[in-house]
Amino acid sequence: MTTNRTFTMIKPDAVQNGHIGSILAKITESGFKIIAMKYTRLSKETAGQFYAIHKERPFFGELVDYMSSGPIVAAILEKNDAVAGFRKLIGATDPTKAEPGTIRALYAKSIAANAIHGSDSDANAAIEGDFFFSMLERF
Ligand code: UDP
Ligand code: MG
Repeated sequence: MTTNRTFTMIKPDAVQNGHIGSILAKITESGFKIIAMKYTRLSKETAGQFYAIHKERPFFGELVDYMSSGPIVAAILEKNDAVAGFRKLIGATDPTKAEPGTIRALYAKSIAANAIHGSDSDANAAIEGDFFFSMLERF
């Protein structure tokens, strides 16, 4: 099944290292339209809620600390087959395994500080977009 929308976050390491502009350029040059976007910061509590699906994983505590360590950019993106297309554009979770030219290959520091998030399914894209944006913030 294809979808038109996905959700992304430019993570704290990429914001801290000055990559917001380059990453947004790559996203829009790849044909994604920005439907909603905000510069914000997660608390430990909201980072834990966002990643609740991973709460039993060994890296959960580290992930919550890292994701609340600095500002992020959250956005809803639109393109035909958005979820799969965006996962291809960002590359593998571990940047040493990400295809050359992908956002994680270019900008990620480590498997934890891996520059960017991309939803893994249509259902999660909708849930994650709803987590950050109210109806009035979209168009
Ligand atoms: N992560 C980590 N260690 C791991 C696997 C994942 O710190 O061994 C972090 C990493 O920031 C990753 C996030 O947890 O992006 C969510 O993990 P997931 O397996 O969903 O990877 P993704 O969907 O982001 O590629
Ligand atoms: Mg994931």
